[in-house]
Amino acid sequence: MPKDYYKILGVEKGANEDEIKKSFRRLAHEHHPDKGGDPQKFKDLNEAYQVLSDKEKRSRYDQFGSAAFEQSAGFGGYGQGFHGFDGMNVNFEDLGDLGDIFGSVFGFGGRQGTRQKRGADIETEVTLDFIEAVKGATRNIKLYSNQPCSVCTGTGGEPGSKIDTCKTCKGSGQVTRATRTFFGNIQTAAVCPECQGKGQQYAQECKHCHGTGIEKKTEEIQVAIPGGIDDGEAVKIAGKGEYPGSDGKSGDLYVRIRVKSHPEFKRENQNVLSDAHAPYSTLVLGGEIEIQTVDGSGKLSIPEGTQPGTVFKIRGKGFPYLRGGGFGDHLVTVQPLVKKKLSKDERKAMEELKKTGL
Ligand SMILES: [Zn+2]
Ligand SMILES: [Zn+2]
Repeated sequence: MPKDYYKILGVEKGANEDEIKKSFRRLAHEHHPDKGGDPQKFKDLNEAYQVLSDKEKRSRYDQFGSAAFEQSAGFGGYGQGFHGFDGMNVNFEDLGDLGDIFGSVFGFGGRQGTRQKRGADIETEVTLDFIEAVKGATRNIKLYSNQPCSVCTGTGGEPGSKIDTCKTCKGSGQVTRATRTFFGNIQTAAVCPECQGKGQQYAQECKHCHGTGIEKKTEEIQVAIPGGIDDGEAVKIAGKGEYPGSDGKSGDLYVRIRVKSHPEFKRENQNVLSDAHAPYSTLVLGGEIEIQTVDGSGKLSIPEGTQPGTVFKIRGKGFPYLRGGGFGDHLVTVQPLVKKKLSKDERKAMEELKKTGL
């Protein structure tokens, strides 16, 4: 599907650089996944901006349309290396230096030819109870995965063995490849698959891992989960994914969080919601009732004449905000307590009350 980058960015075809930048900033804030926006829309916005903010790319786009940019080979591979949005590790509040921020998060425009081999990401799940999601928690998780070989530290070469010039690339670290594209044949440089771009090889391969640099092993990793995290969000631990071998770069570990429901509390954004019941007389005359918060039990003062369903706000007893500090609130909805079984005295008192018409 050809994409209309002008439409995506909400600008006219003849828009100048300034208009494009302004519109992008506005929309990037609006569709930010961190603020509940759609990650795909956000990605499209970035893709459109990467092209329209670059004179050369923009004129190519005007001539050929987005097809010129959707081929991954040869044009920087927009959007490749997008590993989902973990929403935890990057502060997007400052959209001042757009290129750098988005570039580092989404891996746009990476130089394909020299990219280091990277291992796969690992995703695992951890379940927290409601209070742990408020307070934060640590978990030790065991993972069985590809890790750097313990003997050769992941290089694949026998320790102490001689290092030779790579025969495949003759030391350059690169091999050239002809790629057929929309614009004809294009020569692209790729990392030498034999030496992973180093230009050198060990004369003897590591006996322990047979030269792969990989050892499958179980690792125990301690994960600190911040308070305030919501069901479905993930904590990213860089470099704890699969090791690709031969001095490559390990992928990342994503710990997806599941939060169990609570018998009394519900969550709404950073607020905790609950119901409390007060005797009818307390609602009418005012008084105190005992309530539960995430910090334990406490007293809630009820003013005279409180109506059923009144919501009381207890400040700061909600979930912490992941960024920027502060806490949400606890919202207690107070309802009248209607007893089903009454003692003799209670029944007598109720009947007296009934006589008054209250
Ligand atoms: Zn080894
Ligand atoms: Zn090589």
